[in-house]
Amino acid sequence: MSEVPSGAPRHLPAARGGEWEVVIGMEVHVQPKTRSKMFCGCGIAELNAAPNTHVCEICLGLPGVLPVPNKAAVEACLKTALALNCEIPRHTKFDRKNYMYPDLPKGYQISQYDLPMSINGWLEIGDRKVRIRRVHLEEDTGKLIHAGDKLHRAWESYVDLNRAGVPLMEIVSEPDIRSADDARDYAMELRTLLRTIGASEADMEKGQMRAEPNISIRRAGSDELGVKTELKNINSFRALHRAILYEVERQRELLESGGVVVQETRGWSEAEQRTFAQRSKELAEDYRYFPEPDIPPLELDRAWIEELRAALPEMPAVRRGRLVAEHALPAGDVAVIGADRELADLFEGAVSAGAPAKQVANWIVGEVAPSGKLPSAKNLAELVTFVSDGAITRDQGREVLFESVETGRTPAEIVAEHGYKQVSDESELRLLAEAVIDANPRAAADYRGGKRQAMQALMADLRKRAPQANPKLANELLLKLLG
Ligand SMILES: [Zn+2]
Repeated sequence: MSEVPSGAPRHLPAARGGEWEVVIGMEVHVQPKTRSKMFCGCGIAELNAAPNTHVCEICLGLPGVLPVPNKAAVEACLKTALALNCEIPRHTKFDRKNYMYPDLPKGYQISQYDLPMSINGWLEIGDRKVRIRRVHLEEDTGKLIHAGDKLHRAWESYVDLNRAGVPLMEIVSEPDIRSADDARDYAMELRTLLRTIGASEADMEKGQMRAEPNISIRRAGSDELGVKTELKNINSFRALHRAILYEVERQRELLESGGVVVQETRGWSEAEQRTFAQRSKELAEDYRYFPEPDIPPLELDRAWIEELRAALPEMPAVRRGRLVAEHALPAGDVAVIGADRELADLFEGAVSAGAPAKQVANWIVGEVAPSGKLPSAKNLAELVTFVSDGAITRDQGREVLFESVETGRTPAEIVAEHGYKQVSDESELRLLAEAVIDANPRAAADYRGGKRQAMQALMADLRKRAPQANPKLANELLLKLLG
């Protein structure tokens, strides 16, 4: 095992015989954002498309056809590799990975073997670096759908080839990850990065990003790697985290009871929350890789690569650092805003439109991010300023925000139309507070008798009577009148 990543390794306490260290490498398959498939002109099917409606002679693997690489997929792969600090070798080529499976009509998959599009990069997770071994391009397989009649023991399998030939990037890390938490953070950071550079939507629910961690454990301090198992096609961050925790525990129990870990591919059962053996791991020679004879090796234009590098946006980790340095945002706010380029753009846009930074962050974290609907930066700035100036209450602000997002109208228009305003006039608020105390004699008596929580009932009644009342001033007046 070569260099250990920076930061303290995390050890599992063990029942006996010292601590265990967890060693994880990740393969992540990502569907780049393209209009067509990897080697033909077929469009990319939506998940609910009718089966076999996005196929042609090339992706069906009929004889006598020639695959042509998709330039947009190559570009997305290069951008990803550059964002992950990879080297781009001068020469790259495609290879055939041979295996027989009904969802693979050609009997082989076009992938990249010994000359991948990129090598030797890294991704920073917190204060640690996870080294990236390679990022390469390949094509996806089709999908098998099994149906059957249990009663009559009649089983049928269908094949849908809409997905066959869809481009895939494979991002392979070195075994530098040391815990389930780090594995999840790595995958989440990768998603943020892919979205930031526009290489992929990376939506795990839609299968656009699938994680395959390989996991082993070893005695702390050992330099040798243990026998690893590989978990296939994990399609949520939560499942990734749980599957690794389960698998680490399974291996530890095995080894501590004198057993051995078998190198194999395992699946994750969401229903049973456990991993299960699928097949013993194939070795590279089982696939009889050889260069794809129908696609000439690629010599990538260095000027093009430099153009792509120069056009990369600010990386998420750099931007998070800047948000902290320039606006003194707390870590929790930065974690939410910095995880999404659109939210970060919205934040910076609203602040440069003149709204106070901390308030903008509160509104984005508390309201905008959970709703999933984005106002314009100008509208958000206007709204935040109304609330922070005390022109409208926070509750009114929430309604104005959602109406503004739905209709596209400005907060100023909406506030004027509804006649929203916050009442801060003292004589008006005093009358209101007196009315509330008169209407709630028991709560008032309770408060005077020392039950401080009785104030909540009084404030609730006050807000019901006058939602536009300035809550801070109203509260002060109630306290004064009851004191
Ligand atoms: Zn096709």
